[in-house]
Amino acid sequence: MKIVKPHYFDRFQCLAGACPDSCCQEWEVQIDEATAQRYLALGGDLGDALRHHLYTDDGEFYLRITDRRCPMWRLDGLCRIQAELGESALSHVCREFPRLRHDYGDFLELGLEMSCPEAARLILTEPDKPFLTEEAAGGDAPEYDTEAMTVLLRTRQKALAILQSHSLPQALALLLLYAYQAQNQLDGGEEVPWEPETELALAKQFAAKEMLPLTDFYAGLEILTSRWAERLHSPTPGGWCEELRAIARYGIERYWLQAVSDYDLVCRSKLVIASCLLIRQLGGNILETAQIYSKEIENSAENVEAILDGAYTHPALTDANLLGLLINK
Ligand code: SF4
Repeated sequence: MKIVKPHYFDRFQCLAGACPDSCCQEWEVQIDEATAQRYLALGGDLGDALRHHLYTDDGEFYLRITDRRCPMWRLDGLCRIQAELGESALSHVCREFPRLRHDYGDFLELGLEMSCPEAARLILTEPDKPFLTEEAAGGDAPEYDTEAMTVLLRTRQKALAILQSHSLPQALALLLLYAYQAQNQLDGGEEVPWEPETELALAKQFAAKEMLPLTDFYAGLEILTSRWAERLHSPTPGGWCEELRAIARYGIERYWLQAVSDYDLVCRSKLVIASCLLIRQLGGNILETAQIYSKEIENSAENVEAILDGAYTHPALTDANLLGLLINK
């Protein structure tokens, strides 16, 4: 089986007690069934504490957040379960976070979630280098439409190259227009020559002159923390910086192939472009803004779904508005 991962993937190390925005705060931690049954059967004080805090919702087990923190998160910054029972006793989510796994059967793509501050640091500051590929035992038959995956793998490479080709706002505008070309190929159309200068002229022609801010749209999504609500209501716009290009690269790497599930590439491209626009619009420390964006948006399946749907219906996410925000602002 082929394993594909960012070149910085193996360098990730949890900051534990030194983490500025630990994954042990604010999130309700989902506990997989096997781990929940182990906790329910556990003796002693730890077993009592786990049973006290475990609850079920819609058939899933969770640990109830207390005072905005995981009840197992000790004041010294360490996890009580890990300290007393070892890492193997952690739930799947706690063991894996912030590592992402996309298992396509015959190949596995790994990544890191930007919602973890240390992962965000690696994503934003590591130089742009190709994925690392290695062979490992195991694997299954492809669990996807192989023709569609061939198109997606080829067009993702092209999209990553486009991202490096111009000033960032122009590159993102080109990325949006290229997504339509790639979508056409995904739908069975022929590959046509890519002419960036013609596409840029098209982008200028389509770009709205009066733009809607993205903050209003994001303020209408599910909000986890009050500081995110405050950021959305009081943005301090920043400039175009190379960290935003790294965020776009991360987005393309993370979401492009997922179109194999529903053949919809354009909405995922808009998700990536809108994330850069929003993070820039919010301003502040770029690393912190990107991390909190990811925590609020990417870690909420409901929010991601709302953006993918809104890509076709919400006035702030129309092609004209996104192009206007990229080119005319
Ligand atoms: S958010 Fe990342 S660095 Fe912080 S505690 Fe969690 S895994 Fe560790």
